Amino acid sequence: MTPQPVLALHGGAGTIPKASLTPEADAAARAGLRAALDAGWAVLQAGGSALDAVTRAVVALEDHPSFNAGHGATFNRAGFHELDASVMDGATGKAGAVAGARRIRHPVLAALELSKPSDPLLLFGEAADDWAGQRGLELVENSFFSTQSRFDLLQKMLAREQEGTLAAATEQEKHGTVGAVALDQHGHLAAATSTGGYTAKPAGRVGDSPIIGAGTWASDQTCAVSGTGKGEDFIRTALAHTIHARMLYLHESLEAAANAAIAAVTALGGGAGLCAVDRAGNVALPYNTAGMYRGWISEKGVYVAIHEE
Ligand code: ASP
Repeated sequence: MTPQPVLALHGGAGTIPKASLTPEADAAARAGLRAALDAGWAVLQAGGSALDAVTRAVVALEDHPSFNAGHGATFNRAGFHELDASVMDGATGKAGAVAGARRIRHPVLAALELSKPSDPLLLFGEAADDWAGQRGLELVENSFFSTQSRFDLLQKMLAREQEGTLAAATEQEKHGTVGAVALDQHGHLAAATSTGGYTAKPAGRVGDSPIIGAGTWASDQTCAVSGTGKGEDFIRTALAHTIHARMLYLHESLEAAANAAIAAVTALGGGAGLCAVDRAGNVALPYNTAGMYRGWISEKGVYVAIHEE
């Protein structure tokens, strides 16, 4: 039987509490999620690969200023942007990633390019920028990624540090990342993730998003996963790979394995969310924060949500 294609995505677990999200911001985020779902779905419907579908969906999210990736990414403490991204192909086990990129317009496309050779898999900073430029990918000034609202968030976080109220920072001040997972009609799975990291992160800090097995994982044996939340906790729990391992060795369902992985981050005190799809096309979108920008699309329809709904 031909598998029924499906694509699921997240636009970050850093959502604003429902009461303070303006109707305009709500509508803009939903439109961005829908456009990204449509971009990925067009690939799947045309018989394309899960890897291409997740990449197209993430490119759309990177272009959208509502989400913390590409244009609209967070500022680090030094006042500029360092971008992390990765992809993994469940069919071949190939993966690629960039970390600390400063000039690549679409970091996920650089990750895709890096997944083609098996070495290098992960490039950092200037080396990533140069490599992407040599491959013909679009390079931009670092300020291309800046938006006023992310700049305001940086000021807010720096003020919190001064006041000693950092612990009270909201999820929206802290978190954000975009990611997509898909199952294609050939039965292959893939995942892609892209982020600016967290607001006011130290320069040079690398999160989970470019770490294969932490923020991103895909295997045709089990599932594809893309995460968002406290990157350090995702790395410490090898979150994305753990979901795969629980399914493979404990024979857990996608939902049970994904919930267990989120619970492990909750136990460490971190905010966390993810999108995942298994080889049968089941989707899981768990999170432990006030909400998560998320959605899925398949022959059955389209789902877009931000809070509990
Ligand atoms: N996981 C990302 C990181 O730690 C950020 C986030 O999703 O909030 O870099």
